[in-house]
Amino acid sequence: MNIHCLVRNQILTLQPYQSARKFEYSGKIWLNANEHPIAPHYKYSNTNNLNRYPMCQPKELIHNYATYSGVQNNQVLVSRGSDEGIELLMKVFCDPNKDTIIFCPPTYGMYKTSAEILGINYRMIPTINNWQLNLSSIASQLNHVKLIYICHPNNPTGNIININSIIKLLKIVENKALLIIDEAYIDFCSNNSLVKLLSIHPNLIILRTLSKAFALAGLRCGFTLANAEIIKLLKKVIAPYPIPTPVIDIATQALTPEGIKYTQIRIKQIHNNRHILIEGLKRCSCVQTIFPSCTNYILVKFTPKYQVFKKLLQQGIILRDQSYQWGLTNCLRITIGSYEECQQIISILQNEQFYT
Ligand SMILES: *Cc1c(COP(=O)(O)O)cnc(C)c1O
Repeated sequence: MNIHCLVRNQILTLQPYQSARKFEYSGKIWLNANEHPIAPHYKYSNTNNLNRYPMCQPKELIHNYATYSGVQNNQVLVSRGSDEGIELLMKVFCDPNKDTIIFCPPTYGMYKTSAEILGINYRMIPTINNWQLNLSSIASQLNHVKLIYICHPNNPTGNIININSIIKLLKIVENKALLIIDEAYIDFCSNNSLVKLLSIHPNLIILRTLSKAFALAGLRCGFTLANAEIIKLLKKVIAPYPIPTPVIDIATQALTPEGIKYTQIRIKQIHNNRHILIEGLKRCSCVQTIFPSCTNYILVKFTPKYQVFKKLLQQGIILRDQSYQWGLTNCLRITIGSYEECQQIISILQNEQFYT
């Protein structure tokens, strides 16, 4: 039997998402997935209930995230990472081979990959002026569009999207489409969150995660914030038991006032290390441009002849090459690691030997 006769065409031609954990290089310093460099300490406290299925939407966890983010409990959905939130929205709102989503490169790769897997059309509308939205281009291409995904702050560029342009876009698409703001990194610059607009704009949806500032990428826990009607629809399609009991337990702890306090300390450390890394990189001859960032990573354009990605890899330091992305030739994304990790990059790139 030729299994290829049975596979959906879209899957045969699919380019799978290149996640950092599929990358098989052996390195000692992992700065390619925007993870926190140090594991937080949590203990799984309920060991006697694993015979039972977990609740689909555990009340205490939902309540803790609602309190943390400043919304009502009925405006929160918890899912297996925010990647699942990205996909659930397409399942609820988009008919395959008919409806369309929009996203604005260079940006996070999962909007495209999820659409391809589900057979949903997508339109890429590149950003302009240092990765801001091209509103007139979006406004003129809204036929069949149900969802618009905006990453804010944007991955991999690190910038926030102009809030006035987001508000304009919310009005442009009113009654036509939903605007999804992916705030995976917003905890690093929380003043810029659009969560306050949820009560005025029923077509706004916000995605959040515990993977970045909360340092819990291995937990796989994310949240969708939206008006109660949208949350109800998402609950219709989410798996019956999406969040494992140990995940519920640890995520609930991470969102207590004490857990949040540790996250805030972590955020300050990342801000300090980011400053140190940027100041150090400014004095490296291979660096062309360091783009401003309000996240736990920076995008840097390097002089190609020094082969920074390859040479750091040889020394066990893994960055994320962004050259394949629209407009990002010779750009690498560097996750802000520990103080020692930042110093190590600086000392390698400032060393004359690197350039011989
Ligand atoms: C990391 C990331 C996610 C995925 O987060 P998970 O909760 O780990 O699935 C979503 N969006 C962006 C922009 C990210 O960088």
